[in-house]
Amino acid sequence: MAEKPKLESPSVEPLPSNALKKEQKHSLELSTRASEFIRYEINKSPEHERILDIINDATNRLFKQYGLKSKDQDYNSVHILSSEAPQTKPFFETGRGDIIMPDISNQSKLLFAEQLFHETMHQKTVHRHDGPYSYQVGLMEQNDSSEIYFEELNEAITAELEKIFYQNVLRTEPLFKKEAALVEEIKDKIKQGPEEDRWISDEVCATIPEKDEIHKIKQFSYPNRRRALRIIIDRLCEKQSEYFNNREEAMDIFFKAMLSGDTEKLKKIIESAFGEEAYQKLQRGLREFLDFIFEEKKTI
Ligand SMILES: [Zn+2]
Repeated sequence: MAEKPKLESPSVEPLPSNALKKEQKHSLELSTRASEFIRYEINKSPEHERILDIINDATNRLFKQYGLKSKDQDYNSVHILSSEAPQTKPFFETGRGDIIMPDISNQSKLLFAEQLFHETMHQKTVHRHDGPYSYQVGLMEQNDSSEIYFEELNEAITAELEKIFYQNVLRTEPLFKKEAALVEEIKDKIKQGPEEDRWISDEVCATIPEKDEIHKIKQFSYPNRRRALRIIIDRLCEKQSEYFNNREEAMDIFFKAMLSGDTEKLKKIIESAFGEEAYQKLQRGLREFLDFIFEEKKTI
């Protein structure tokens, strides 16, 4: 059991000052990178297959919930790597549509499922792929004109969906019962602790067993981008209080735009709340957008 849970710093990921400075990702280069890892692919175990089924069903349900069509995942496109593979984070490459997954399921099935869910969301939201530099994945758009739009927002929304996936599916799914019980126990302990730390309880997504019965706590991905998104949602609800009954309704606009690739409604609501220039700022990056909508710079 986790006698002494370790907390990782919740704010380790700085927001880039200008998202446009990022290098374009050539989808063929990513495919080459993926091929290097695919050499280390292992056969999927029945447990891997079960996790794939859970994610496939949950993501299909999510699209349906928003009135959208979704396709079953081709499990051959998910490549689970042996422990001999060079270290990498999980990633999705748009070229052939492969997902590269280091196998951490022996350390934490929960974390493995959350990471695979995240990459599956990217895979299932490829809305356009016109050429090596021109594609749209979720809201993230890359064009031949050397600009990348909505990269940060797309990750923030995808990571926010990870939390909902944990809450609605993994937490009660028998395969994750033991781990989820430990996560919930840790969350309860945090909630009983100092008030200023209580928000961390919502951040816990998994635990990794370490030496001497100590478990390292893992948090959902992109914490700072999600935090920026929450600030934006709060501000949007303040500005458009006659339009939204609650935060969830505002968040739904972002979820649906990401799942469908259709940004019309999102554009309209952002422009009516913050002015015409605001939408372009949001496309460029979260920091730029927050600086624009707040007179004083927010520390995020
Ligand atoms: Zn991602």
